[in-house]
Amino acid sequence: MNSTHQVQDVIVVGTGFAGLCMGIALKQMGTEQFLLLERANEVGGTWRDNEYPGAACDVPSHLYSLSFFPKADWSRKYPTQPELYAYLKGIATEHQLYPHIRFNENLISATYLEGQKLWQVTTTQGKYLARSLIMGTGGLAEPKLPEIPGVESFEGKTFHSARWDHSYDLAGKRVAVIGSGASAIQIVPELVKQAGEVTVFQRTPNWIIPRLDRPYTRLEKALFKYVPGARRLHRTRIYWGHEARVMGMVIHPALMQAFQKIAEFHIKRQVKDQVLRQQVTPDYLIGCRRILISNNWYPALQANNCRLNTDGIRAITATGIVTAAGETVDVDAMVFATGFYATENPIAHCVTGPNNTLAEAWQDGEEAYLGTTIAGFPNLYMIIGPNTGLGHTSMIFMIEQQVKLIKKLLAHKAEHNAATLAVKPSVQQAFNRKLQSRLQRSVWATGCDSWYKHRNGKITALWPGFTFEFWWRTQQFNAQDYELNSY
Ligand code: NAP
Repeated sequence: MNSTHQVQDVIVVGTGFAGLCMGIALKQMGTEQFLLLERANEVGGTWRDNEYPGAACDVPSHLYSLSFFPKADWSRKYPTQPELYAYLKGIATEHQLYPHIRFNENLISATYLEGQKLWQVTTTQGKYLARSLIMGTGGLAEPKLPEIPGVESFEGKTFHSARWDHSYDLAGKRVAVIGSGASAIQIVPELVKQAGEVTVFQRTPNWIIPRLDRPYTRLEKALFKYVPGARRLHRTRIYWGHEARVMGMVIHPALMQAFQKIAEFHIKRQVKDQVLRQQVTPDYLIGCRRILISNNWYPALQANNCRLNTDGIRAITATGIVTAAGETVDVDAMVFATGFYATENPIAHCVTGPNNTLAEAWQDGEEAYLGTTIAGFPNLYMIIGPNTGLGHTSMIFMIEQQVKLIKKLLAHKAEHNAATLAVKPSVQQAFNRKLQSRLQRSVWATGCDSWYKHRNGKITALWPGFTFEFWWRTQQFNAQDYELNSY
């Protein structure tokens, strides 16, 4: 369908948590014309795409959900992918968002038309025009494939963790897993149950703490449903428990040493072999990279049909992997649990403002104001933009605060009947100077490589403090921070 003729008030790209939450806000504001453009054929974002065996969230369900769309009957403390996916589809149905969604609309470009003060959005299906453009495309949505010599020559089956092919039967197969991050530690324990042989190629070990997961009892679910305040109290308790981690991560990284003892003890308890212990023990302070939670990763590595290889990969051939030590490991299939473009997201190349593309504006590292507006890009808003990621708690909290801020900005622009709204460059610069100086004192800057950082070392993914500070700063909307222009 080509919709160029009809100018939308707002176009939102993406229908994960961010896009759906924004859609609800637009409905509440009474926005007449808005569309949500989705590249796939269903809503759900991350929780639609990451459906590999064992996929689950490592933030508790009662916190990893919209504050205004509670679910009293979460089945367990940490939600599984199918339950989260169903929850997201439920949001879209309950809030009647489906009529606003156009599926199979993969974003090709978004270009600001200076003369008309409109965003022209081109997708695989057609062109759209909008007064405001909101990117709800996710922080970890673009799969990153490993850049290993010969990777394209492999003749067996390959999967990225976020593009699982369930039609491929892994039973009895020889499988290589490249990566040992949050996705790999969930996949491997499931894989060893099915595959013939599993070889895990780990480049850097991660700190892992026990996963204190359990199903909620019927009594608890009933309390959450029927006792006023019980669910909210539970959510609040989880929120503050996670928030306390900021003390170590940002304020006093030395406190993380104590936390590290839990992870060290976890290794000691689950891994008896001294060589394996050494291989899985990181050499950086816990928290510098994302802390993982698992009870079955170390046992899976010790399964009879599993082997951990830490030699490094020299090349991939038609039949398997050649390690840096010269060993050849032939396999039938390879799982790339190699993560996402967290920084330098390819989508930044698709967005062209009046003067340049987002990728050009961000060549020294992504920057925005409160992760939401970007100087030089009028009427463009981001959800989960630069420095809004978290190492300690639920992203859904941040998404909700950003959506509330965008609501205020759209209302402010409408109130003044303005054609454009953009953050002032000086405001964005001052904000980022302070933000970066705070991050320098954090655990993330204590000497490790991570996807939190741009390739120049600047930490562009994370918010440098408590999430209630983000709540406070986004709700303290200051009109002076933005410039409005009339038609
Ligand atoms: P990731 O944490 O970035 O891990 C990618 C892994 O692939 C790392 O072990 C990395 O090694 C390795 N790797 C990448 N390129 C490689 C190469 N060329 N050769 C060898 N190894 C290579 O990605 P992820 O596991 O998909 O997780 C990403 C994020 O998604 C998580 O941190 C989390 O925020 C989110 N996530 C959450 C959950 C959950 O809630 N349970 C589950 C999955 C994902 P290096 O470490 O050496 O770079």
